[in-house]
Amino acid sequence: MDNKFPGKDISIEDLKTKFPLAAKKNKKHKSKFKIAGVEFGGNTIPVFAGPNMVESEKLIMDIAKNVKKIGAHFLRGGAFKPLTFPYRSKKYYETKEQGIEWMYNAKKKYKIPIITEVMEEKYLPLVSEVADIIQIGSRNMQNFPFLTACAKTQKPLMLKRHYGASLRDWLGAAEYLLVEGNKKILLCERGVSVPHTHRSTSRFLLDLQVVPAAQELTHLPIVVDPSHATFWRPWVHSMALAGVASGADGIMLEVHPDPKNSAVDPLQPINYKDFNSLIKQMNILARKVLKKKII
Ligand code: PEP
Ligand code: MN
Repeated sequence: MDNKFPGKDISIEDLKTKFPLAAKKNKKHKSKFKIAGVEFGGNTIPVFAGPNMVESEKLIMDIAKNVKKIGAHFLRGGAFKPLTFPYRSKKYYETKEQGIEWMYNAKKKYKIPIITEVMEEKYLPLVSEVADIIQIGSRNMQNFPFLTACAKTQKPLMLKRHYGASLRDWLGAAEYLLVEGNKKILLCERGVSVPHTHRSTSRFLLDLQVVPAAQELTHLPIVVDPSHATFWRPWVHSMALAGVASGADGIMLEVHPDPKNSAVDPLQPINYKDFNSLIKQMNILARKVLKKKII
């Protein structure tokens, strides 16, 4: 008992033996690094914004232009999608290599770095060439051979927490990335699955307590994704602000010009107007209360 953090499943011994690279070396230890010129773990809280899925070139161009103008640091968008059900209209069924090319075109045209998910090792060479950050989705968090393959690209990675994973499991997965010598690792909280959330549409519960909990133990920057966690547009604004207040080192948001007609998860994206007001409010909170900034 003496050897455990109060109320946690992590022991002091775990820090030294299970995840020595992910663990902080002292209280103040915090990873600070730049990705595409944007600093993580410092005074800026970078924002990732974009659609769930890269639906078309026209759409991703429009989103890149607008989110960049509003203040996003990175464009997000999925070309390889972990979809819960296999049935989709052909039109919207993953854009794959084509989607990656559209993301790349948007990056070049609007000078905004990109983050996108890879689900299979065979696509790592292609995505490594164009993406600034490779996203490891929650469903792959403990696909250990895949984690190793991602880490070996030496590209910056964002490891989303599986919705059933403990902090110990999450840090164990991060250790698989760090052990390959890859240092630019971001963690992302995206909601956990609990037996009784508020109602059936609330698939996940945003675990904001994990932000300070993780920051007690690890030096890695923690991103919060209120879009996937709430799965419900009206709650994204307050939960994004709460994410900033929790001490998050980055915020990921789904933004779409016509949210209701988004190809995937149309209940969760916010439109440009709402993104604009949210980023302004997050910035006020960051500057006035936390002595940090977003824009
Ligand atoms: C996503 O960010 O597009 C995504 C699928 O997230 P998650 O892995 O958290 O469900
Ligand atoms: Mn999604």
